[in-house]
Amino acid sequence: MIPAVMPTYARVDVAFEKGEGAYLFDQDGRRYLDFGAGIAVISLGHCHPRIVAALREQAGKIWHTSNLYRILGQERLAQRLVDHTFADSVFFCNSGAEAMECSLKMARKYHDETGNPDRYRVVACTNSFHGRTMATIAAAGQDKLLKGFAPAVEGFDHVAFGNLNEMRNAITAETAAVLVEPVQGEGGMIPASAEYLRGLRQTADEFGLLLIFDEVQCGIGRTGKLFAHEWAGVEPDILAAAKGLGGGFPVGACLANEKAASALVAGSHGSTFGGNPLAMAVAGSVLDVILADGFLDRVQEIAKGLHGRLETLVKDHPTVLSEVRGKGLMLGLKCEVPNGDLSAKLFENGLVTVVAGDNVVRILPPLIIEESHVEEALGILEASCAELSKGA
Ligand SMILES: *Cc1c(COP(=O)(O)O)cnc(C)c1O
Repeated sequence: MIPAVMPTYARVDVAFEKGEGAYLFDQDGRRYLDFGAGIAVISLGHCHPRIVAALREQAGKIWHTSNLYRILGQERLAQRLVDHTFADSVFFCNSGAEAMECSLKMARKYHDETGNPDRYRVVACTNSFHGRTMATIAAAGQDKLLKGFAPAVEGFDHVAFGNLNEMRNAITAETAAVLVEPVQGEGGMIPASAEYLRGLRQTADEFGLLLIFDEVQCGIGRTGKLFAHEWAGVEPDILAAAKGLGGGFPVGACLANEKAASALVAGSHGSTFGGNPLAMAVAGSVLDVILADGFLDRVQEIAKGLHGRLETLVKDHPTVLSEVRGKGLMLGLKCEVPNGDLSAKLFENGLVTVVAGDNVVRILPPLIIEESHVEEALGILEASCAELSKGA
């Protein structure tokens, strides 16, 4: 018999009851160190007092009005994102896929508005992930996402991630935009090089295309900068953000420069729930913390230490691990054993991680971790790798 909850996930048989900072507690009171952060969502750890207070305060005022009226929390949050990024304007939605959907619609509309309605195609990368809507599975172009859902939404071409020549060769008179994740997440924690991102910017300018970055996973402080593309010193025209933005509250955002954003006017796009006062209060307090003086410097510092420790771990366990990749606190351990085996062993020993493509175990701790959490995680990683190599 089918379960009441549609079985779209192969779930671990545990239900967490409480979260506190970097820790999760299950129904039996067992404690886990959370280095998965609900897939890079719990950016400030569980139940950060500042976010809890913001949510409580807003919950007693007003929850929802619809976007038929001004929402002051949206205006404030949009202004702060504008002040701290390349963007001139922001559209709020509820998820990463919706932020991507807005990005893709904007790219088509931009060319339509500027007299080139034939330019509608987007060149994206193989091994990418952009969400689960019809357009975003077509954008990612992976068979495993598209299988059974034919016909795929038209208008996406795919080239190898990191190969600028292939990207340039795929551009035609019908191309509207290029789309990449500055750090591929689901694909296996693979950062794009700064040269590649700079090359994409030049290419987009040369051919009159819009450059779209999907920073749903790598954005909001995850790599030690507010957005990952800042490391390369290039700016996109459009950017999708979500996961870490709400610290656990569902919220997404499509950021754009004026050129791209001008394509969307009253009536061209919308969302009933997008940017509602609860989401805005929470996301606003998440940004308060992340943008506070020194916070991102601390993320970089702790990430550097963690990365170094993981390099040593890999060297010490060559039959279990072969590589550390990623950037900041968006790290991946490439496995020599099945990644699911390592992730399950870590879980058994009290460390929560998330698997990714290319046989990688993702290390995505909350951005608030301290040296003691790194110590504890490494202890569990060491013991788990030792157990697995003994079994081999
Ligand atoms: C998770 C993710 C998405 C989709 O976000 P949802 O909130 O699940 O819709 C899109 N792009 C990237 C890079 C992601 O990691």
